[in-house]
Amino acid sequence: MAEPACKKCGKPLEAEEIEYCGDCSRRKHAYIRGKAVFPYDGLMRASIARFKYRNRREYADFYAAELVKSCGDAARAWEADALIPIPLHRSRRRKRGFNQAELVARKAGKMLGIPVETGVLLRTKKTSPQKELNDTQRRANLKNAFQVRQNDVRLRKVILVDDIYTTGSTIDAAAAALLEHGVEKVYFLAICIGRGF
Ligand SMILES: [Zn+2]
Repeated sequence: MAEPACKKCGKPLEAEEIEYCGDCSRRKHAYIRGKAVFPYDGLMRASIARFKYRNRREYADFYAAELVKSCGDAARAWEADALIPIPLHRSRRRKRGFNQAELVARKAGKMLGIPVETGVLLRTKKTSPQKELNDTQRRANLKNAFQVRQNDVRLRKVILVDDIYTTGSTIDAAAAALLEHGVEKVYFLAICIGRGF
């Protein structure tokens, strides 16, 4: 991802002199900071759509390699106990056959030497697709979408992994659930990040 980038969410910035994007200047996020590999442009939109909806699971190798290449140093410096892919609701996972974030997290985790934890964070609410909603609607849509299996949490620092970061509403909702259950610091890695918002 080309510099300059937002020091909080990693979104590409227009001007050199500002530290944070408009969204991060306005809003307090539940996570500490995050990084992404690609801007979510036309090319990546098509690529991610093939990955998710055309069953191109092999793309996970490329995404994970790029993720480690461009965000690996940052991820290692965060000294996280685990990577946690953003879970899908079980009905969506069944329909798609796989969780795209989990595929990438597993491959990246192997390369980074960070364990992947999929049993702690659960998506217990079926949410509408986020892409047609504005930011306020996205946050309402995700309210109580995630739950944490309490007794399993021995994790202090975690890195959430997702395919696309736009407003951060998904990462914030997942981070908030983890923070309520003993996790102290949450970071994120995303394959793509939107420019808007
Ligand atoms: Zn930002």
